[in-house]
Amino acid sequence: MNLNLSNKVVLISGGAKGIGGAISRGLIEEGAIPVMIDPSEKEGAKILKLANGNAMQIPMRLFDAKDSESVVAQVIAKYGRIDGLVNNAGANDSVGLEHGSPEAFEKSVAKNLNHYYHLAHYALSYLKKNQGSIVNISSKTAVTGQGGTSGYTAAKGAQLSLTREWAVELLPYQIRVNAVIPAEVFTPLYQNWIQTFDNPDQKLADITKNIPLGNRMTSPEEIASMTIFLLSEKASHITGQHLFVDGGYTHLDRSL
Ligand code: NAP
Repeated sequence: MNLNLSNKVVLISGGAKGIGGAISRGLIEEGAIPVMIDPSEKEGAKILKLANGNAMQIPMRLFDAKDSESVVAQVIAKYGRIDGLVNNAGANDSVGLEHGSPEAFEKSVAKNLNHYYHLAHYALSYLKKNQGSIVNISSKTAVTGQGGTSGYTAAKGAQLSLTREWAVELLPYQIRVNAVIPAEVFTPLYQNWIQTFDNPDQKLADITKNIPLGNRMTSPEEIASMTIFLLSEKASHITGQHLFVDGGYTHLDRSL
């Protein structure tokens, strides 16, 4: 299947590592031009090398609206176009209800959610020109809860809601908006999280035995495949969807 993504410019927040890194690598395989907005320069350099220069890294940690405005200006100055946006950067930062604070909650929501809106807002006029596509990476915690992480789950739920909202608002421009929902993906973020448990190996074994398809973690590349398909014209009649790429973890029978 030819996805016809050659020379398409795609912005990926958190595009140098983990799921975002796999999306950037996958886009390079398709001949597209990934723009990684990610402070991890060492990881980004490896991807830039892979792309033979046909990629860009903006080493920035997105937070304020002006960050995203500047990202879009830099991309337009270099390439003059934007064909896709993957909102992906985020981290489960464990700001809970009982053991949190209003200040920490507000900061967690802001850092996990606001730049999803900011990037889409500033990229929109360019996406309109090319009938581009937006993919929001959310989390199964938005629909299952996790406990002890109110800020993160509030942001992840809002991303699902914005996916539907933008899909409707952008219908007149033929811009498709979808969400990909991972559950358990072994990335640097996940590795750090699992290390917070007393017995990380046992915790990991307990989790993977409950993943119905293959009793294994989802790979970053499996999230990337769905994301890249959704960005492509082969997904031309898919919009407003929440796609779970999780080996059945969220929905299949618990007694399996
Ligand atoms: P990861 O391994 O930490 O990779 C994310 C990358 O994004 C890192 O390079 C990180 O840099 C960067 N980043 C974080 N915040 C940023 C910001 N504000 N601006 C720009 N770059 C930023 O994480 P991941 O596991 O791939 O997660 C990617 C997305 O998938 C997140 O939205 C996460 O919520 C979602 N997700 C992941 C899982 C999972 O099992 N891994 C499950 C459900 C949902 P630093 O390392 O320097 O912070």
